[in-house]
Amino acid sequence: MPKLFSDRSAPARCPFCRREVLPPREIKGGQWYDFPGGYCACGAVFALDPTARNGGAVLLQAMLMACKGDMERVLGLSLGTDYDEGHVHKYNDRTHQVEPQAFGTLYFIRLREEAEAGDNVS
Ligand SMILES: [Zn+2]
Repeated sequence: MPKLFSDRSAPARCPFCRREVLPPREIKGGQWYDFPGGYCACGAVFALDPTARNGGAVLLQAMLMACKGDMERVLGLSLGTDYDEGHVHKYNDRTHQVEPQAFGTLYFIRLREEAEAGDNVS
């Protein structure tokens, strides 16, 4: 095994349901969507900060995705009441793996009303 792919790397998983997520891709349909992102089957959305420098903007994008572009709704949401936030640190967007030496971050948002019933971990 090349050292780059050590056994400490792991698939990128949704922090809410532990499903493996698909690689982030370009998000269509909004002027605000500057970062790649995606959707989890549990109702969570995520956006990628590949540089570890854009945190706030990436988080805002994820919230806008969760609210289908409705900024008014985003501004009315409260963490822990209306939505939950999760992070996947040390994400490498080239390999789509979590690796010790990587420095990207996936920001996850899940609106509580969108969460699947039961929330069973598979
Ligand atoms: Zn999920």
